[in-house]
Amino acid sequence: MSYIKKKGNNTNINSNTVSDYNNQTMNNNDINNDTQTSYISPSILTIPPEIFAEISINLSPIDLISLSQVCNHLRSLLCSTSSQTTQAIWRASRLLFMPRLQMAPPDGMDEKSYIELNMLERGCQFCGHPDDTVKVIWVFRVRTCGVCLDGRTARYFDLAVKEDIPDHILAILPYTGNHADRLYWRDNVISAMQEYEKLTTEEDRHNWLVKKKLANVNRMSDATVREDALIEQEWNKNWRFIHSRMEIVLRKLQEQLNLLQDLAELSD
Ligand SMILES: [Zn+2]
Repeated sequence: MSYIKKKGNNTNINSNTVSDYNNQTMNNNDINNDTQTSYISPSILTIPPEIFAEISINLSPIDLISLSQVCNHLRSLLCSTSSQTTQAIWRASRLLFMPRLQMAPPDGMDEKSYIELNMLERGCQFCGHPDDTVKVIWVFRVRTCGVCLDGRTARYFDLAVKEDIPDHILAILPYTGNHADRLYWRDNVISAMQEYEKLTTEEDRHNWLVKKKLANVNRMSDATVREDALIEQEWNKNWRFIHSRMEIVLRKLQEQLNLLQDLAELSD
């Protein structure tokens, strides 16, 4: 395989790669970081998306994320939210490497964002902390630890009574918890208030509220479906574990029984 080795301002080309390199139109701006040593196949820098889609068939999401950071060409190829080819690359990787994430992304979310949101191994998306409390809160579409969740949410009572957020605004926002003790994402409240206050006519405000309410109903029902699916996966996983333990225990009991029968036969 041919590589170009670039370090600092010097571009050292392996003798095997000269002819390949002369046929390429690599732009130096494509090198992500001049201060780091990079090994980049020149053909990768100009590869058409459909060919890349075929050769990337066995790449994990982590591999794809690493590749997207190599150069501008790969970044544009892997980070487009509108390209069908890009979506197909990430979808194939997700279905192959993320068995817990077989459902399609929610409406309005691209495949890469969907995958990154669900990478619990990356820890909390706000503080980076990788503890057991990190989880995806689907109504808010965030991956957060317990501490950041507490710090970035507010309860209905505090928002409505202490902060005078109107009920018609809170009625169109996603929340978690039971209805009597609703928990809202603070940034959602702030941006909704800002959007609402920019509208100057009653008609615009009414139309905005209707549109947001519909979007919120869809968001809440989508979140319920995803959280239910997660609970079912956990239950199935736990049941498989219990079942495998039961098999081991039963086998051991059977072995003990056989041994006792052998002993009984010997003593006869
Ligand atoms: Zn956190």
